[in-house]
Amino acid sequence: MLQKVDFATPKTLLTYEELQAYDPESESWQKQFARRYTHHSQLDGVLNHIENVNETVYSKFAIAVTPYMAKLMDRDDPNCPIRLQYLPTFHEETKPGFATMLDQLGEEGDTVPGTSIVHRYPRRVLFLVSNTCATLCRFCTRKRMVSQPKGSVHKDEIERSIDYIANNKNIEDVLLSGGDPLTFTDERLDEILGAIRTRAPHVRFLRMGSRMVVQLPTRVTPELCAVLEKHRVQMVNIHINHHKEITPLLRSRVKMLQKAGIMLGLQTVCLKGVNDSVEVMRELFMQTIEMGVRPYYVYSTDMVEGAHHFIVPHRRMLELYEGLRGWISGPAVPTFIVDGLGGLGKLPIIPSYVREEALADGSGTTVKCRNYKGMTVEMPGLGQDFSLPTTSN
Ligand code: SF4
Repeated sequence: MLQKVDFATPKTLLTYEELQAYDPESESWQKQFARRYTHHSQLDGVLNHIENVNETVYSKFAIAVTPYMAKLMDRDDPNCPIRLQYLPTFHEETKPGFATMLDQLGEEGDTVPGTSIVHRYPRRVLFLVSNTCATLCRFCTRKRMVSQPKGSVHKDEIERSIDYIANNKNIEDVLLSGGDPLTFTDERLDEILGAIRTRAPHVRFLRMGSRMVVQLPTRVTPELCAVLEKHRVQMVNIHINHHKEITPLLRSRVKMLQKAGIMLGLQTVCLKGVNDSVEVMRELFMQTIEMGVRPYYVYSTDMVEGAHHFIVPHRRMLELYEGLRGWISGPAVPTFIVDGLGGLGKLPIIPSYVREEALADGSGTTVKCRNYKGMTVEMPGLGQDFSLPTTSN
């Protein structure tokens, strides 16, 4: 039986005591979705020390927290790394000393008119299919559409987007994102993915970004996995920012996706107060790789309105990277990224371990190498070109 989201289900919010006894596997993901807390006052008592933020916060970005996520939050610690990600604070009401933008990545400029396709790179497209998420992150880069919809992504817009992919034979990589594509029913996902696979056989890599796997793990069901497997979705990128988000339930649903042959990757946003510590990052990435999920990107926080207090300075991001490379398993070390303003694209943040320098006598160059412990060695051979002669004479 295919599922339909029952948004009409009467909202019954769980009290603290009910939440303690609550088993997220006891009801459908749709019912849990309908039980989300959507105002800070609703969480008062469920959690202590709730900030009474100004209502203007809601005009910029709504609040939504699933019971599952609320249960993971520390009741008494306002600095709990999960609370910080989802509960608004007075910081959102303050103005930073620089301009913040709602479309700082310039996605609207690269959107194909009449569609929800962002076509920035030659052979791949971002297909924004939904503008809803299970739980809303205060630092969201797409605040302009997630929770502040100009109207949800319309069915016709999705159809035109699929037309665009079908008609552009050079597109070989399609990333479904949003919002969260998994807020759709299995039935709707089946239609969209099926249309891409049938009408665009030139698409070689079909992937999806979803934080719902983490925020509402029961969304991952055998029925969903069957749909993803049927349409050969090769990769799902999940989004975790702190190892407290990794639970036995999440692990079991990740395993379910893996059994359906889906590769899993991790993306993380570098957030002040949440994970800007070497110890937290090491633990997060090692727990992730233990699950068989490959850490892919750590993004710097985008300069979106109401998120400036999360920004970790570039120099600190370099230090964090240096605290990983060499210190934990190589495959557990993700690439650190800044998304360039105005649509410049993803740019790696990489400390300099290998540097080419001119020799003092002007005869050429040498290469100076530094390892993760700070030991250095000079490799003059790497500064030379040992090209072989083109003839034997
Ligand atoms: S899950 Fe992603 S798209 Fe949704 S609110 Fe969080 S950051 Fe934004």
